[in-house]
Amino acid sequence: MHLPLQDDSRLPHTTYSADARTPLGLSPLRGSHRADVAIVGGGIAGCSVALHAVEAGARVILLEANEIGWGASGRNAGHVPPATKHDPDEIVARYGAAAGQRLIDAAEQAPIVVAGLIARHGIDCDYSVPGIIMAAHTEAAMRANARRVDYWQARGRPVELLDRRKAAEMIGSDYYLGAWIDRRGGKINPLAYVRGLARAAIKAGASLHEGTRATRLERDGGRWKLKTPMGQVGAEHVFLCTNAYTDDLWPGLRATVVPVRAYQFTSRPLRDNVRKSILPGGQPMTDSRRLLSGIRMHSDGRLQFGGQGPAFGPQGEPHWRATHARLQRIFPQLGELETDYWWTGFMAMNGDNSWHIHELGPGLLAMLGCNGRGVALATIWGRELARYAAGTPARDFVLPPSQPTRIWLHPVARPLVSALIGYYALRDAIEVRRLERTRPAA
Ligand SMILES: Cc1cc2nc3c(=O)[nH]c(=O)nc-3n(C[C@H](O)[C@H](O)[C@H](O)COP(=O)(O)OP(=O)(O)OC[C@H]3O[C@@H](n4cnc5c(N)ncnc54)[C@H](O)[C@@H]3O)c2cc1C
Repeated sequence: MHLPLQDDSRLPHTTYSADARTPLGLSPLRGSHRADVAIVGGGIAGCSVALHAVEAGARVILLEANEIGWGASGRNAGHVPPATKHDPDEIVARYGAAAGQRLIDAAEQAPIVVAGLIARHGIDCDYSVPGIIMAAHTEAAMRANARRVDYWQARGRPVELLDRRKAAEMIGSDYYLGAWIDRRGGKINPLAYVRGLARAAIKAGASLHEGTRATRLERDGGRWKLKTPMGQVGAEHVFLCTNAYTDDLWPGLRATVVPVRAYQFTSRPLRDNVRKSILPGGQPMTDSRRLLSGIRMHSDGRLQFGGQGPAFGPQGEPHWRATHARLQRIFPQLGELETDYWWTGFMAMNGDNSWHIHELGPGLLAMLGCNGRGVALATIWGRELARYAAGTPARDFVLPPSQPTRIWLHPVARPLVSALIGYYALRDAIEVRRLERTRPAA
């Protein structure tokens, strides 16, 4: 069985890595070290913990098997929504009124925390807040959009329901029934962001190591001991921030998520008139289909979009025809669509589409389960872990800690998830066919 950590250890060439922001080039851990906080995983989560913990005065060591940002953090779509995957009423139903509201507030504040870190540490990562568009491909999705807009407008937030005509203007396509725009959402170069967090942590005194896989974790005389191929770290607190790339370092943790390979593509720079016609306000967008659908325009005229391909196993060819055909049906003005870059990364799926923090032992926490909402949320949950190291008990976390739950039938989850993805694709296709029949005649 192919595990995410077995992918090529070099970061793929993406629209982000092409952007001339240099890798950190950090040396592997050698020898024996002590720390207050040791972190496994150098994505946004791990680097946020490192930065916040070192700023709080802790001695911090971070171990990354490949390079900083090598996991989902350096490969994602770079949308920064001010919310979790769940609607506010679902969060309140699950956590109760007070705890649910804290969680909703924290998720809403998360992009502001990201903006604050970027400003404070001078991180050059193209962060902007033009809003995020969520388009509806069914009447049911339109009704759900209207409910979301009612909820946030009642609280005075800058959101707006877009009818078909208004959505067509903002998207540059009359494909969808309508949409809503949340003006609190943003977009980012996530690789530059995670590298910036790492640089800020190093500047504040943290030791970060690339090419350093943690191979063993054990309790040793009241501390945790992490072993690596060329060294070891003894630490009071250990935080596992390995998400979809979780291996067998801690027994059973890998079985709490199913890593699903997701695909990203970037077109060649589009002709000037075409580029100006697509998402002219600069907002990234997603739609209400079940499969990954993010689209954003870059300032160099490249269109970035999610697409399809095999969800498991070693990286193979994407499903080119289906991916391109979808884009061309939404934006007929594209004509021939030529792809400059494509790459894949793993998302951690779990049963409840939520992030989880697990207290695995005294001072030992794991944080994982991103499900496609991680740029801002990994940043704020990372800050929670740093607070834990400074004395805040886990029970006071905004995201209440939970017991690790092994995914039912985990050893055969892949065929089951593949079947589920196939079913989602079929339902999407049926609904999209209905949608296309409603499209105004050209
Ligand atoms: C294609 C794609 C699109 C996405 N789009 C968005 C989006 O638009 N907006 C959004 O908010 N979120 C998005 N996400 C989700 C987001 O990228 C993740 O939630 C987030 O990056 C998770 O960060 P992380 O630090 O928890 O994990 P990761 O960034 O995955 O980092 C985990 C790291 O752990 C390291 N590691 C694992 N095991 C070990 C070990 N034993 N020793 C040392 N190191 C180890 C790995 O090498 C890896 O670098 C997307 C994800 C994907 C895959």
